[in-house]
Amino acid sequence: MSLLSVSGVSARHGLLTAVREVTCEVEEGETVALVGANGAGKSTLLRTLAGAHPASAGRIAFGGHDVTHRPAHRRTALGMVLVPEGRRLFPGLTVAENLAVAARRARPGPWDTARVYTAFPALEPLRSRDAVSLSGGEQQMTAIARGLLSNPRLLMIDEVSLGLSPAAVDTVYRAMDEISDRPTLLLVEQDLARALAVADRVICLLEGQIVLSAPSREVTREQVTSAYFGLRRAPA
Ligand code: ATP
Repeated sequence: MSLLSVSGVSARHGLLTAVREVTCEVEEGETVALVGANGAGKSTLLRTLAGAHPASAGRIAFGGHDVTHRPAHRRTALGMVLVPEGRRLFPGLTVAENLAVAARRARPGPWDTARVYTAFPALEPLRSRDAVSLSGGEQQMTAIARGLLSNPRLLMIDEVSLGLSPAAVDTVYRAMDEISDRPTLLLVEQDLARALAVADRVICLLEGQIVLSAPSREVTREQVTSAYFGLRRAPA
C-alpha cells in the first residue's frame, strides 16, 4: 500500500479549476519532485493534500486513512506536514522559539530540537535571532527544521529554491541529503536539473493535470521540459 494515494483529485479557486483529476501515489521513503510552469497548480495541489485547501472532487488516502475531508491539523497529526511557500515563520519570534512552537505540538518520533540543530548546524548560531532577520536560505532551513520537528511521515515542501541564491539552495539540499532516516518527501522544485538530481521520481503538472510521472533516472531534462511547456504530451 502506498503511503499517499491520490485519486481523481480536483481543486478550484472560484470558477477556475487549478487541479484537475490528479491521480498519483507516493511510496514510503520516496523523494518526489513536483514540477511545472508558473500557475500549473503545484501549490494548490500541495495545499489540497495538506488540507489547507478543499478538494472539489476525488479522494486522498494517507497511510490507509481517507483524509479527503479531514481538517489540516488532523492530517498533521497523522504525519502529513506542509512547509508552505513563503516559509511562514512566526515574525517576532526567534529561531529557537519558532522551533519550540513546533516541538510542543509534535507527534512522537525521532526528531527533537537537538537533532534538528545537528541536521542543520548553520541554525545553531542563529538560535536567538528574530526569524524575520534571517536570509532566505536561513529562513528556509528554519521552516524545514520546523516541519521535521513535527515528526512527519510525509514532508511536503513548497518551492524549496524560490528566492534563494544558488549557494543557499546548495546548503539547504546538502543539509537534507545528510539527514539519515529522512521522511518521505514531496517537493515543489522549479529548478528542473535540481529536481532530477534529488528526486527518485518527477511529476510534472500542466494546467492542473499530470502530464508526466516517471522515475528521474528514466527521463531526460528535455522530456521533462517538453511536458512542462506542453510541447508534447508525455505518457502520464
Ligand atoms: P507558481 O509556480 O507560480 O507558484 P503553481 O504551479 O504553484 O504556480 P498555483 O499557485 O497552484 O500554481 O496556481 C494555479 C492556478 O490557480 C493559477 O492559475 C493561479 O492564478 C490560480 N490561483 C492560485 N491561488 C489562487 C487564489 N487564491 N485565488 C484565485 N486563483 C488562484
